Formats: sequence, structure tokens, C-alpha cells
Amino acid sequence: MKIKEILKEDTLSDLEKEKLGLQYTLRNSHQNRSFKDNRKLLKKLEAVNDQIKKLKADLNEGMEFNACTVEDNEHGGKTVSPHDMRQEKVACWVCDGVGKEKHGDKEYECGMCKGTAEIDEWVCGGPSMQVSNANGYAIQRDILGLEADHAGMVDAKDLPALRRKLIKMVNVDKERESMHSPFQDEQGPMRAHTDDQGNTKIGRGPRMMGGERTDSQVLRYAQTLLDMVDYAMKNDLVISWA
Ligand SMILES: [Zn+2]
Repeated sequence: MKIKEILKEDTLSDLEKEKLGLQYTLRNSHQNRSFKDNRKLLKKLEAVNDQIKKLKADLNEGMEFNACTVEDNEHGGKTVSPHDMRQEKVACWVCDGVGKEKHGDKEYECGMCKGTAEIDEWVCGGPSMQVSNANGYAIQRDILGLEADHAGMVDAKDLPALRRKLIKMVNVDKERESMHSPFQDEQGPMRAHTDDQGNTKIGRGPRMMGGERTDSQVLRYAQTLLDMVDYAMKNDLVISWA
């Protein structure tokens, strides 16, 4: 699993804890609080819930292709992580970068950014590409020539051949035809997942049904991947997705 995914999952577990704490407080000391403070807590809970939803959607839906570093880890395996990951200040999405929340005619300090109007977000410096799972599987099969899976990697030694293929795809219309699709109806590969009750189950990934895959879409995938491969070859990286 990539560093970014791990960070998202860490954040998610912190948020789940925060949510439990807020729910506990709201349930157990209701009578000791003013209406105003109660509203503040509820608003906070709402914000935490929204962020949990957003993170879960990020983790479960879609696939991200990145240029990545590969390092040996202490367990004798490899750690793959997006190149040039860094934390950056971005406008707070709860208060739209204002730092304040308005309730009625009163203003309160934003509970998410504590009034600073900014929050820390992980961003990737190199080229990256976010696609739906169905398109991610098609890219692996039809462009990378691999068996589709929810995560994987193209080694540095295989990048020159991939680059030649991508240049052809970008320049020759016919090379993109195999990826055109009138309508998608695809099933994800077998994998473990955890349901709402916290039970882990093994099963097929979600069934993906969606719109067509047009030539301009395929061209965009090929062009973005070509940029990514160039970047990876220049910086001694691999291409990885999850
Ligand atoms: Zn804010």
C-alpha cells in the first residue's frame, strides 16, 4: 500500500475516534451546555462526518497512478511511495478558506482550521492520474499489458518499452481503438474488504457500470501516462497504482 493511502487511513482512524468522542460528549453532558455550544459541537460532528465520507470515497472508489520511489524496508520487502509527496497548506474546505462559520447572525471560529482558514493536505509533486476503477483496470489490461488488479507497479526496466507503446498510442489513432468502450460493465478483482459492521469479507470488487470510454479520454490517459513515464525515467522512479 502506498504512503498516501496509509496516511489517509491513519487520518480516517483518527477521525473515527474524534467522531466517537463527539458523540459521547453530545449524549452525556447535554444539559450542562448552552444551546450555542451544542450547535457548535453538532456542527463539528457534521464536519468530521463529511471528512470521513470524503476519505472513504477516496480510498474505495477510483485508482491513482503515480510516479513512485521504491525503497527496501526493514521487513525485507519494498516500500513504494509517490515521489515528492509533501504537505501543503490549502484553503479549509469547511469554512471555504474564511476561518469563520456563520450561524444565524453570529460568527464562530471554524472548528476544522481553528480560524486559520487553512488546513494541511498531502499533495504529490510529480504527475499523477486519478481514474475510476473500471478505467484503471482497462488501462492495466490494454495499455500496460498486465492482469488487472487493485494495485500494482511497472518496474524501471520496463519503462522504455512502455514509453514506445505510449508514443504510438498518442500519435496513431488506430492504436487507441482497443480501449474504446460503448458502455462499461466490469467486475473488480477478488479482494478483502470490510463492511459497515467491521466484518472482513473476501469477494469481488464492486461492479462498475458507467459511461462510454471515448477516444479523447483514451488519448488523455496515454498522454498523462507518457508524461509520467518521462518523469519516472528522468528521476529514477517506477510507475505504481492503487
Ligand atoms: Zn475552516
